Amino acid sequence: MPDFTVYPHPVLAVRCPTCQSAPGLWCRRPSGHRASDLHAERGAEADRLFIEQHGWEASMFRDGDGWFIDPRGRAGIRPQPDKMALI
Ligand SMILES: [Zn+2]
Repeated sequence: MPDFTVYPHPVLAVRCPTCQSAPGLWCRRPSGHRASDLHAERGAEADRLFIEQHGWEASMFRDGDGWFIDPRGRAGIRPQPDKMALI
């Protein structure tokens, strides 16, 4: 089970389906050089596993040197029917 709080970026908790970089290692280009960004498929996989573990209302936030999980961090951004009427 990936731990999303132990790496410099939460997405690093999962293996990359695109370049096969192991958890904790940054994505690589086909040349072997460090990619400038993490692969999008890795982000999607991290999202999927994060939601599976913590639920769709959870989010992550950074505080000081570490990452933390807020179990209801996304609850407040759910569209509210009364607010949607104002759009
Ligand atoms: Zn990758």
